[in-house]
Amino acid sequence: MADAQQTQQTRQAERDVSISDPGPENQALRKLNPNSNVPPPTDRGDIGPIWYSFDLAHKRVQEGGWVREVNSTVLPTSKDLAGVNLRLTAGSFRELHWHPADEWALMLSGNARVTVMNPDGTMFIDDVNKGDVWLFPAGLPHSIQGLQPDGCEFIAVFNDGDFSEIRSTFLLSEFVARTPRDVLAKNFRLGKDLLGRLPKKGLDIFPATLPGSLAQDKAAIGGRSVESPVQYTFKMATMPPTQTTPGGDVRILDSRNFPATKSIAAALVTLKPGALRELHWHSNASEWQYWIAGKGRMTVVMNEGKARTMDFNANDVGFVPRVAGHYIENTGDTDVIFLEMLKAPQFIDVSLNNWLRRLPAEAVTAHLNLGPDLIAKIPAVKELVIQG
Ligand code: MN
Ligand code: MN
Repeated sequence: MADAQQTQQTRQAERDVSISDPGPENQALRKLNPNSNVPPPTDRGDIGPIWYSFDLAHKRVQEGGWVREVNSTVLPTSKDLAGVNLRLTAGSFRELHWHPADEWALMLSGNARVTVMNPDGTMFIDDVNKGDVWLFPAGLPHSIQGLQPDGCEFIAVFNDGDFSEIRSTFLLSEFVARTPRDVLAKNFRLGKDLLGRLPKKGLDIFPATLPGSLAQDKAAIGGRSVESPVQYTFKMATMPPTQTTPGGDVRILDSRNFPATKSIAAALVTLKPGALRELHWHSNASEWQYWIAGKGRMTVVMNEGKARTMDFNANDVGFVPRVAGHYIENTGDTDVIFLEMLKAPQFIDVSLNNWLRRLPAEAVTAHLNLGPDLIAKIPAVKELVIQG
């Protein structure tokens, strides 16, 4: 009864003087976040942060590009996943490096050449274009170089909420700069006089000469004899949708169709205006979202009757705790495109509609006070996306 009373009071408060706000306001933020400023009456309590935006994150700019990150520093609720947004101009490198987390990335704009070396010395080289994904396994050294005409921009997701591209990355330049010179000379079998040329600190992002063609690079490193048996890239945006409905479509990419990704699963969701990513939850992981286009809202419903609704726009990050119920609604007049990322081998979700229709109708009637004729109107299968 307490819940009903609170809802009643909130509803009333929305209409009367209680919601008035005579002090200063950030009108631009208010306009972007109407559901945060005036929560729907169904919201209740505090569930912790579920939103952040790359457009608020510190941008570290170097000659050749920039990088910014959304991790546990700014979104402390996300323990499993963190994201990095990186831009490289044509020819520029993200310095050769490795890190303790797996790296899953989607190319947002432009194109790049990527390389990964396996521990057995086999090498993977590929060019990635807009909509392509790569997976760099934890600990394996890799590189990214922007290509013509305008380099690239990508979103990278790491299976560690604390991941930081500065604090968590091991750089080639630092390895050589922090090794005693006589040891380096011995290791490289080079005269010590040559070692003065090596970088003395991290390069991170820096401009370089454009590479030759992919075929030339493959041949130059040894061709077939050193070719990686593992494919570390995937054309996600052009793969056939896993499911299409009148409201949009979903492409699911996980260890079942992209074996390189063992612990990061993804769904690329497109919602037409008014459409709904249906009420669901994930049994196996929390969810880290990256919003690529459009605007929408999400409510996250927790245990103890707590719920929060927020608005999302392109370049925002959303977070859903493990097993928490949620939906995404397209509230704009253009398509919403976003990523649902899970730290898990498989993308698994539980559909509320599906569950209600699998139960004996009397059981549902007993809970929801809807007769069998009304229950029969609820979609019986998992639609993923429901038309608006
Ligand atoms: Mn990396
Ligand atoms: Mn979800």
